[in-house]
Amino acid sequence: MADALQAVKGMNDVLPGEASLWQRFEDVARRVFAQYGYRNLRVPIVEPTALFVRGIGEHTDVVEKEMYSFEDRLNGERLTLRPEATAGIVRAAIEHNLCYERPQRVWTAGAMFRHERPQKGRYRQFHQFDVEALGFAGPDVDAEQIVLLARLWRELGLDRGITLHVNSIGDADERRAHRQALIDYFERHAEQLDDDAKRRLHANPLRILDSKNLAMQAVIAGAPRLLDRLGGASRAHFDGLQQLLADHGIAFAVNARLVRGLDYYNRTVFEWVTDRLGAQGTVAGGGRYDGLFEQLGGKPTPACGFAIGVERMVLLLQEAGTAAADAPAAYIVHAGEGTQRLAAIAGESLRDAGVDVVVNAGGGSFKSQMKKADASGARFALVIGEDEVAANTVGIKPLRESGDQTTVPLAALASTLAARTMGSEP
Ligand code: ATP
Ligand code: MG
Repeated sequence: MADALQAVKGMNDVLPGEASLWQRFEDVARRVFAQYGYRNLRVPIVEPTALFVRGIGEHTDVVEKEMYSFEDRLNGERLTLRPEATAGIVRAAIEHNLCYERPQRVWTAGAMFRHERPQKGRYRQFHQFDVEALGFAGPDVDAEQIVLLARLWRELGLDRGITLHVNSIGDADERRAHRQALIDYFERHAEQLDDDAKRRLHANPLRILDSKNLAMQAVIAGAPRLLDRLGGASRAHFDGLQQLLADHGIAFAVNARLVRGLDYYNRTVFEWVTDRLGAQGTVAGGGRYDGLFEQLGGKPTPACGFAIGVERMVLLLQEAGTAAADAPAAYIVHAGEGTQRLAAIAGESLRDAGVDVVVNAGGGSFKSQMKKADASGARFALVIGEDEVAANTVGIKPLRESGDQTTVPLAALASTLAARTMGSEP
C-alpha cells in the first residue's frame, strides 16, 4: 500500500458527526443576520498581499508572521490567503461602489488562514462568520451588532457562558497623542518587554497592549489608558454606545486594555469572551473602522463590524451538550422481489411531503438493514417486504420508543409519517 497522505498541520477535516453542529450554528446565524437586514456577500479567498498589509497594518502579528503569501507563478503577483474578511469586503465595496446610494449591511462566511501555533481553538485554517455595516457612523449600529450577537447566543443556548467586553480606542489624533505616553511608559519598563514589544515600541506601541505573553501582562496593566484621554466626539460616541446597551439590558464590562489585533479599528472595539475554552477565550470580536475605506483608496465611509470564530462556537456547543440534529426521520429497509421499486417510490413521496428519509442501498438481509436503520438515528424504520409489495402497503416500526409495527397503505404513508414526526405521538 502507498503511504497515506495527511491533512496540512492546523487544517482540519470536519467529519459528519461534528459538521451537524457547524450546520446548526450556521443556520441560526444566517437566520439572525436576516432578522436585522444583513445581506450575504461573497469575496475571494485570495487577495493581493498589499490589501492586508495596508488594511491590517504592517506591525501586527497577522502581517508580520501569520500570512500565507505566495507569488503567482505565471505573473509574479504577490497574493495572500485571506487572514480575515473585513479588508476584502471593504475592497469589494470600493470596487463596486456598493455604498454609493445608501449604506449597506452585509455578512460573509468562510475559511481564513493564519500561520499560528495550532492548539485547541486555534488553527491555521479556521472559519469565521463576518458581519459588516458599511456607511454608518454609529453608535446606533455599533449597538445593533452587539444586540444581534446577544440574540445569537440566546438562540444557540449559550448566553450564560459568554461575556461582553467593550472599549473605545478613540480616533487617530487621540491615538497619536496617547502613543508618546505609551512609548515613554514602556521605555521606563524596557527590561520587562519581550522581543516583539521592543521591536514595536516605536513603530506601533499600541500593539504591545494586545500581547498574549503572560509575562508582560503586569507591565501592560500599568500602561497609560487611552480611554482616559478621549476627545469630546469619541467620548460622546462611547457614552452613547453604553447607554444603548443599557437600554437593551445588555451586561458589559468596560475593558480599557482591549485594543484588538488589527490596526484598522477606531473608537468602538468589543469582544465576547468565555472562560470555557482555556486560553482561546474570545469567540467573537469587532469594532469600528472609520478610516479603512480611505486607507484602501475609497471615499471616507464610516463602518463597523465583527467576526465570530466558528470552531470556537462549535467547541462551546459541544461543551454545552447541544444535540446534533441531522438524523433522518425514517429509514426504509426492503428485501425481496419488487421491494426496491416500492422503497424508491415511498422515499420520494415522503420527501415530497417534507419528511427526511434514507432508503437502504446496497442490499443485505432485513436484520443487517435494521442495524443500519438504528445507526442512522432515524425515529422509524419503514419496512417493505414482498407482502407489502403485494398489498401496496408499508410497515412502520418505531426505533426510539416502544410500540409495535403498524401497517399503512402507501397512499397514507406520507401523511401518517408527517403527523408522527411533527412532534405528535409516535
Ligand atoms: P485571538 O485573540 O484569539 O488570537 P484575534 O483577535 O486574532 O483572536 P480576530 O482576528 O478578531 O481574532 O478574529 C475573530 C475571531 O476569529 C476570534 O475571536 C476567534 O474566535 C476566531 N479566530 C481568530 N484566529 C483564530 C484561529 N487561528 N483559529 C481559530 N479561530 C480563530
Ligand atoms: Mg490572533
